[in-house]
Amino acid sequence: MTNRRRKTKIKFVFEPGTYQKDFYIRHTHSNMQKLARMFPVQLLSLTVHIFRNKNSFLKTLPTKKVPTWFIAHVPKNSTSCIYIFDNKDSITSKKTLSQVLLHEMTHLYINILNPKLSDWLKEGISVYVAAQIFKPSISTTDWKKIAQKNIPFRGVSWKFAAKYNGYNIAGLLVMFFVRLYGWKKFIAAINSHKLTRFSVTSIPLYFGDNPHDVMADFKKYFVK
Ligand SMILES: [Zn+2]
Repeated sequence: MTNRRRKTKIKFVFEPGTYQKDFYIRHTHSNMQKLARMFPVQLLSLTVHIFRNKNSFLKTLPTKKVPTWFIAHVPKNSTSCIYIFDNKDSITSKKTLSQVLLHEMTHLYINILNPKLSDWLKEGISVYVAAQIFKPSISTTDWKKIAQKNIPFRGVSWKFAAKYNGYNIAGLLVMFFVRLYGWKKFIAAINSHKLTRFSVTSIPLYFGDNPHDVMADFKKYFVK
């Protein structure tokens, strides 16, 4: 960390009638402090768009085929922009809201760190950081869908994985790796593979471990 850290330019774009503006401003600042301690990168600028109207939110999405629960996103590989749909009904509690905001902000830091990471890993890190792991174990049905080749997410599209608790499973995998190697070393590992395609096995390989042994441990702990 240097003393010459530039200050991030932060902008909020609230659709007229947006509730709880103060909440967004306060939490954006505290999340930035948290994330700056966790990631060895800094945001240059940040624009948080909050929508009250579902149609104007949907217009920001690259595709219209999104699940009904879809309430926030960061454009692919963006390092500065967050869209959130919040009309009070869409996000039910303040806790959920702060988790959603932290999840999306985490994506920006990951995209600065290594935009080439696979979707499962980007989502897994965001889920882990925002404490959105809601199930402590994985059902064998979901595991069979996600780990068709014995390695989770291999040869499986993220869209497909998401239907079978992919977010939760990706979060559990990240939690498992962080417990095994420590957060700082985990970040160093995902930062070191900037040019190659990253899979679940890349992480144990980076540390000189046998990926099949590590995955067998993961399965033993989490697949019930
Ligand atoms: Zn996400």
